[in-house]
Amino acid sequence: MRVRDELPPVYERLLPPWFDRDAVVESKATCAACAMCAPEDAAPSPASEYFSKSTKCCTYSPRLPGFLVGAVLADEAPEMAEGRARMRARIASRVVVTPRWVTPSAKYGVLLDASRRSSFGRSKALLCPFFRDDDGGCTIWRHRESVCSSFFCKYDAGADGLAYWRALAAYVGQLEIALTQWAVSEIAPELAPVTRAEGRVTRWELEDRAPDDDEYARWWGPWLGREEELYVACFERVRDMPPEQARALVSGEPLARRLTVLSNARDCVQNPRIPERLRKNDQLDARELSDGARLVVSYWPYEPSALPPELWALLDEFSAAETCDEVRARLKRTRDVDFPAELVAQLHRLRILVDATA
Ligand code: SF4
Ligand code: SF4
Repeated sequence: MRVRDELPPVYERLLPPWFDRDAVVESKATCAACAMCAPEDAAPSPASEYFSKSTKCCTYSPRLPGFLVGAVLADEAPEMAEGRARMRARIASRVVVTPRWVTPSAKYGVLLDASRRSSFGRSKALLCPFFRDDDGGCTIWRHRESVCSSFFCKYDAGADGLAYWRALAAYVGQLEIALTQWAVSEIAPELAPVTRAEGRVTRWELEDRAPDDDEYARWWGPWLGREEELYVACFERVRDMPPEQARALVSGEPLARRLTVLSNARDCVQNPRIPERLRKNDQLDARELSDGARLVVSYWPYEPSALPPELWALLDEFSAAETCDEVRARLKRTRDVDFPAELVAQLHRLRILVDATA
């Protein structure tokens, strides 16, 4: 599978050749049998904070550019019927349904930020409107947005993997902005962008209702009542974007710069760069378990590591004063301890050990 194949089909012709590289596979994020849910055939681990099966990681409401809304509406595949129906209901709600974006309310954003640590993956109060909880699946998967296309709960390459997927989300997110603005300017140039005050919650959002009719009519102008028509027209315009225009878009700034970041991040996944001198990360969140092991959260909350007490004690041996090879040789010489180079690499992947010279 190529990187391109993991993204919505509307981008197929638009993305530069870089996206023909092999996709990065995350083997630990086993979504069909969700890796974050309690196992059915074994006792739950006291060291794990499980997600709920009726939410998984879809305690997030997507920020959909209009052309992806149109892609859902125009997709007549039978398996998309529910996604289409849910999208129509979402549009009918009028809650932050604008020509360029269909986004969650500012109130939802405040609640998500404030409750992420306690409730992400666990509370139905944050559940995405496109999540089908009878089979734990996404009803708009083929046309999901940048965040949904790039989120994993666990990364085979640890912190380097997280950095890669974040770089992909940043690239595709930038593409979403450019394309939704371009499509509306082509089809409905009379529609001004809807501006929303950062960090403010309007009264209609606070009360979980649509904006007043006058405000909504201002957003849509002559397209009022024809929202679906505009979204589908934007999808078709993006899908059929002339190749020279697509080339100019992706080779200009800021997308070219973001591609460089993405490409470097992918190189780090394939060829991790391990600094010569490492030390224990002083930002670790470590708690002692009943068997004396340490449960350590390092680069990412959803992938804690249980370290045996002997290993935990040895981490303090690493410092800027010696290279990792010197530390390993000293441990062997003075304490007859084997500390494999692969274990050093793994601890660095998880950022339990970090660059001592940074
Ligand atoms: S990415 Fe989400 S659905 Fe997939 S295994 Fe992780 S929590 Fe479960
Ligand atoms: S759009 Fe799909 S993948 Fe994204 S949060 Fe909703 S259900 Fe999950």
